[in-house]
Amino acid sequence: MSAGPDSLAGLELGYDIPAHPGMALHEVVTPCLVVDLDALESNLRRMKAATAAAGVRLRPHGKMHKSVDIARLQHEIGGAQGICAQKVSEAEAFVRGGVSDVLITNEVRQPVLLARLARLARDARITVCVDAYEAVDALARAAQAEGTEIAVLVELEAGGGRCGVTKSETAVALARRIVGSEGLSFAGLQAYRGNAQHIASRADRAAAIAETVAQARIAAEQLAVAGLAPATITGGGTGSWQEEAASGVFTEVQCGSYAFMDADYGRIEGADAPRLDAEWHNALCLLTSVMSHNGAGRAVVDAGLKVQSVDSGLPQVFGRTDVTYAAASDEHGIVHDPANALDVGEKLLLVPGHCDPTCNLHDWYVGLRGDRVECLWPVSARGKAY
Ligand SMILES: *Cc1c(COP(=O)(O)O)cnc(C)c1O
Repeated sequence: MSAGPDSLAGLELGYDIPAHPGMALHEVVTPCLVVDLDALESNLRRMKAATAAAGVRLRPHGKMHKSVDIARLQHEIGGAQGICAQKVSEAEAFVRGGVSDVLITNEVRQPVLLARLARLARDARITVCVDAYEAVDALARAAQAEGTEIAVLVELEAGGGRCGVTKSETAVALARRIVGSEGLSFAGLQAYRGNAQHIASRADRAAAIAETVAQARIAAEQLAVAGLAPATITGGGTGSWQEEAASGVFTEVQCGSYAFMDADYGRIEGADAPRLDAEWHNALCLLTSVMSHNGAGRAVVDAGLKVQSVDSGLPQVFGRTDVTYAAASDEHGIVHDPANALDVGEKLLLVPGHCDPTCNLHDWYVGLRGDRVECLWPVSARGKAY
């Protein structure tokens, strides 16, 4: 649901929310996430055009932004046909916000969550992954209890060392079991290689994904021989989608970070340009203020570990080369400012090292059109980790 002016009524600046629509950027209360709406829209349109040209369906991963408003924009202007979620509660947040087709790109095994998943299938088309016979049976019981139908993908362990089956024969056997289960329909295969997304060299990344493509192709062929040709083969992320899209095997890509980008994706090698950030705009920044300066090269800003994830490295200061974000503690960031160029109160835009786990730490996105706040969007599925 969009947080228009009505839904912001009664919310207090600096306590509940970091900004009001209409404010200038320099008035926004920090630390908070800001989204350059022109950059976001450009990224969404670009991916729409690229996936349409490649002839694959685009189902963006909503775990990255966790925002109903952005999911809606991805449908309206970005060519999205459904979205991905990682958790049942996250999928619920999207369905409550009006998204009608959600793929949970993950295994679900807890009884409470299976029941919620089955209930959610009353209101939307719901697809989920399995990698075990017991998972198929539990899912079928949940669907039968609710009287709903759940679409099911068999997940291949595509080299990322996480969930999924490794053998095609197992994938075929699981597909048979799904087909034979009341309340379930067999939707196809998921083969997502998360650990390949951030490989810096394009050639090395392509080589890793080629293995995943080969694996998916063999499984699909064996399914076809069994009379169970998969309608959907889904996978791919921001680092690799060009490979999956061009494979002739994958029918759908699940890119998430492309909408915002981040410092780590900005470092890896792109297709036609030396860096991904030359092709894609940084649409997300963490806005921070200088709160103290020692006059000897060190500024202290109000964005530390509680408002960003540094698992993929420290943030980059957007649009400046004279200052560097050098260290983070709980509530402070240390910025090297050798020329003592910064003043207390001055604001900096930080490009987060890793967008997904940074977004999850915030309640709001402040949408900017140029230097002016246009909208506030809640991080709708914040905390929805179940
Ligand atoms: C996170 C994730 C994606 C999207 O990855 P990005 O790198 O953000 O594009 C796609 N598929 C699955 C299964 C994921 O977990």
